[in-house]
Amino acid sequence: MKNRFTMSRTGEMGHHERVRMYVCPKCNSLVDQPKRRWWSGWRYCLNGHVLYVRGLGPSLEQPFWKSFLKGLARGISVFGLIVLTFSIAPDYHAASMARAASMRRWSGADVGFVVAIFYLFTGLSLLRKAHFWAGRAGPVQRLVTHARGRAYGFLAAIPCQFGIVIALLFAK
Ligand SMILES: [Zn+2]
Repeated sequence: MKNRFTMSRTGEMGHHERVRMYVCPKCNSLVDQPKRRWWSGWRYCLNGHVLYVRGLGPSLEQPFWKSFLKGLARGISVFGLIVLTFSIAPDYHAASMARAASMRRWSGADVGFVVAIFYLFTGLSLLRKAHFWAGRAGPVQRLVTHARGRAYGFLAAIPCQFGIVIALLFAK
């Protein structure tokens, strides 16, 4: 237990076998054994907050590079899937979305551009969140590496996404 509290940012990679702790950002406390709702599968802290952070996923401790690679991989694969869907079957996909009318004539490149912007804002908001957490005393600081890793992963995915958009534009 003491090990976790003295852990440095650079030392995190060496702790593979330790149990990852959930942290409730709202209570700023560790959640040792989170409750789990049978109907949603989501975990909750003792005060009933969902242990989930938008853009980040479960509010767990996670090493920077693991979080970074996850963010990068997700950023590129989600982007690829969306763009591919719009490029191949725009009408089908548009119909499944609420804003079908305005989306119908969108090309893969248009949508790709919007998704890239979305990742830019998600990454920046995660960075801001990490900055806020880093400034607070207490267990919530443990989420900082996770959030920063994910944020930089998302941001690193953006040049790849723009590369794909540009390739699509030139492919026409
Ligand atoms: Zn809580």
